[in-house]
Amino acid sequence: MSAKQPLPDTEQAPDPLWQRELREQFPIIGAHPELAYLDSAATSQKPRAVLDAVQTYLTTSNANAGRGTYPWANRTTRLVESTRERVKEFLRDPEPERSAVHFTGGTTDGLRTIARDWLAPYLSDGDEILVPFADHRANLDPWLETGRLLAERGIDVRVRALPYQEVSGDYDHRALGDLVGPRTRFVAATHVHHVYGGDMNVHRIRAAVGPRVPICLDAAQSVGHLPVHLDDPSLDVDFVVFSGHKAMALPGTGVVWARNTRGPTFRPGGWQGTPNTVGIVSLRAALDWLHEAGPDRIGRWATGLATRLTDRLRGLGPYEILGCPASLAAGSALPDSQRRHGIVTFRHRDIPSDDLGFILYSHGFMVRADSLCQAGAGEGDGAVRVSLHVYNTAEEVDRLLAVLVSLI
Ligand code: PMP
Repeated sequence: MSAKQPLPDTEQAPDPLWQRELREQFPIIGAHPELAYLDSAATSQKPRAVLDAVQTYLTTSNANAGRGTYPWANRTTRLVESTRERVKEFLRDPEPERSAVHFTGGTTDGLRTIARDWLAPYLSDGDEILVPFADHRANLDPWLETGRLLAERGIDVRVRALPYQEVSGDYDHRALGDLVGPRTRFVAATHVHHVYGGDMNVHRIRAAVGPRVPICLDAAQSVGHLPVHLDDPSLDVDFVVFSGHKAMALPGTGVVWARNTRGPTFRPGGWQGTPNTVGIVSLRAALDWLHEAGPDRIGRWATGLATRLTDRLRGLGPYEILGCPASLAAGSALPDSQRRHGIVTFRHRDIPSDDLGFILYSHGFMVRADSLCQAGAGEGDGAVRVSLHVYNTAEEVDRLLAVLVSLI
């Protein structure tokens, strides 16, 4: 699509009044007009509806779930169970009677649960798994740990690296197709990259690996930022894992959704103990809030801001933006929805990234400035990441750009 053609309806920028109304629902944002929170990929801020749901629950029904026979306990059990159904609805699960939703502490915890309780027992000697060595380390360490654990038991599993395209940060889907063989049992992938902000084109992974291999999707940066709809045939994955705290809910909340159609049924092992009831209550309110606001519109808002930032930043000499060059160029072949999903990561040629982080905070900008938990990243691989959400504004981006320009 060229820049001159009118954008189809779904690509229109959302209404700024709509955004202002949503922004006003974040008490912490309203209380600090002098600051700009640009670190939502680490964790999101929480709307009043989520804070109210937590307050109401704790002051009217707080009890343990699945135990007790009195009304508060029963209400808590019902809240936990109905949130499972809410997650399935939110993800537009096409077969909710077959799938499972398991609550975890976050994406790291969720991926590790899958590795330990589902993947390890399913693998046998000579099997292969394909996992990402340049995404978030939460989506690498658990698979490596599984390989080591099985090796200690004399089961030799080959943990192979998903191939990447040079520069862009996307997977090399053609090379991936060549790696898949009869012993390939599992592929782990990421939906939106936490450093580059690019959509990792999951539909092309399914096309490359064929219909039988289970795919596990780290959706930490996509849920709440774009529609993650499992009734969409192009999202034919077997696990979706995300962190509630990046999607407007409280910290310590996460989800594993398992389709349960390829490989064994997902059953988290062992005694589960008391669930994070307050976190689950917050997740339910967060999903309701996101649904009402519309992940599609939220995504377009954040993508619009990221495009505004990249379009200006790429012309500024000392700054290098990491990731796919095509997703930067105004008027490139990519539709807006395919550009940076609200994440822009860059370096300054002469200013170390941690210094740049401190400088930006001295001007009121909260950004991430380190190696960003990227698997394989070393000490010298620091960068500054600006990650945007629906409460951020064009004015904040322009203020940030003015400071970045002043540092040239
Ligand atoms: N995967 C991705 C893509 C992430 O961005 C993050 C968090 N930055 C994680 C996994 C880990 O999430 P958590 O810390 O909530 O476990």
